[in-house]
Amino acid sequence: MAYCLRNTENQVALVHIELEREIISDSKICVPMPNTIDQPHRIGIDLGGTKIEGASFSNTGQVLARRRVPSPQDDYGQSLAAIKSLIDYLEGNTGPAISLGIGMPGTLSPETKLVKNSNSTWLNGMPMATDLERLLGRPVKFENDANCFALSEAVDGAGKYSRLVFGVIIGTGTGGGLIFDKGIWSGKNAIGGEWGHNPLPWPSRQEQPGPLCYCGRRGCLETFLSGPGLSADHYHATGRRLAPDELAESAMNGDQDAELTLTRYEDRLARGLASLMNVIDPEVIVLGGGLSHLNRLYKNVPLLWDRYVFSDHVTTQLLPPTHGASSGVRGAAWLWDTK
Ligand SMILES: [Zn+2]
Repeated sequence: MAYCLRNTENQVALVHIELEREIISDSKICVPMPNTIDQPHRIGIDLGGTKIEGASFSNTGQVLARRRVPSPQDDYGQSLAAIKSLIDYLEGNTGPAISLGIGMPGTLSPETKLVKNSNSTWLNGMPMATDLERLLGRPVKFENDANCFALSEAVDGAGKYSRLVFGVIIGTGTGGGLIFDKGIWSGKNAIGGEWGHNPLPWPSRQEQPGPLCYCGRRGCLETFLSGPGLSADHYHATGRRLAPDELAESAMNGDQDAELTLTRYEDRLARGLASLMNVIDPEVIVLGGGLSHLNRLYKNVPLLWDRYVFSDHVTTQLLPPTHGASSGVRGAAWLWDTK
């Protein structure tokens, strides 16, 4: 059953649903109504390792409805059911969407169409696109979650005035997405922008061979630049375990060990980005993920990358995300507009 929500002037009211709360002002419910928002809208789903977020967007990017639920763990069938339930909930509030896009960890193999490279390992090897389209009875677009983040920031976020944008996720893992003229550059093997499993460039003797990565190699950028990688580096240097935000706070309060750890981190991030800039030379690099909240990165890293980039002068901008944690779900909703 569909519902429409109208205010006292009988105009369609915007529905704001934040997490489990619905905030609907001056509205009443009337039933049934096949399409409750009298404008085309699209749904984006961000399938994360710990949560699944969904939102309905107007064509201008306005959030019409939003909901977040926990991700079922180690259960492929339950993951599909949770996505369907979320879409049913959103469409119950905003009517049928004109398109569905899903951002996910990993990607669909271009050859087999099965999920690969996902750190939500229960999805790997599964025909997720086929199963979900059958379950929902309509086409769905899928993309890597870092690509969705980068797309969102390139379309109407920090990189909206730039033709070539690299979006970097530094959080639980380290990923990236490359956007050219507002379109995702997935690449031949659907790994475009996946810089996290390149080795740390210009390594010192102490940085070699580097920590073991879940991908089976040693010294991947992810093992240094992810949140767990940053905390592990501090632990190995000091014997103390601190989360990234605790490290930043300690450094601000004058803790020299924390300052040294963050300085090492900034130089490694500068090296990682510089090696990428030497290949694709983006106009803007946008940071996302939990570590993008470390404000000092935006000042310090561009001061460091000059020594590694093959150019006499570097004008690339390193920027925080405009849409923050919502970028993944926004980018998923824009997938139908990409090339
Ligand atoms: Zn790796």
